[in-house]
This record gives sequence, structure tokens and C-alpha cells, in this order.
Amino acid sequence: MCGQATTARTVPRLAYLPSDPMNDIPSRLRPRRPSDSLSPDCDRARVSLSAFVDDEVDATEGAWVRSHIEQCERCGNAERGLRLLLAALRGTEIPVLAPRTLRLRVEQQFIDARQQG
Ligand SMILES: [Zn+2]
Repeated sequence: MCGQATTARTVPRLAYLPSDPMNDIPSRLRPRRPSDSLSPDCDRARVSLSAFVDDEVDATEGAWVRSHIEQCERCGNAERGLRLLLAALRGTEIPVLAPRTLRLRVEQQFIDARQQG
């Protein structure tokens, strides 16, 4: 008879390689880098970006946003990222589950209808 041998699973240890010493410091305590802050123009562009991508800004604001994202790499990247995200979401059917109580009520109606018919 074989006893059940407990096999000690060896979990490979992940070597911790801090790529950036700043990673050891919580983000709220890290000094802000110049690249972390957005200019007032970038702030304005970010506010309008979602509406711009959806063609829901007026012509003046649309022209301004277009001009800004052509000149500003970060906002241009944000605009492309947003378009990619929206395209991905449009191609995705996100299943929506009905609340449990609604499902139970509908199932009960099926059962009742079957018993009556
Ligand atoms: Zn910008």
C-alpha cells in the first residue's frame, strides 16, 4: 500500500530586480518629475479628448484639440490610446448578468407556464 507522499512544491523565487529605485518609494511620496505634470493646454485637451474622439465637440474646440494633439506627443498618445480602447470595446460583447432575483423570477415564470400548459 502506498502512503500518500506529500510532495513539497518548490516555488521558484522571483528575484526582485528593482528597475527603478523610485519603485521602492510610495508614489504619493515620490518627488514629482517635470514630465509628470501637464501644461494647462494639456489639461484642456484631456478634458475635451473623450468628446473629441466621439465627434461631440464644436468645430472651434475640435480644431484646437486636433492642433494640440498634433504638436503634443503625450496628448497624441493619449488620443490614440483612447481610440484603440474604444475600438476594442466596440468589438467586445460584454456579458451583462441579470440580477439574481430577476433571473429567479423569470425562471419561476417559465416553470409556472410549463406546468399550466
Ligand atoms: Zn498635451
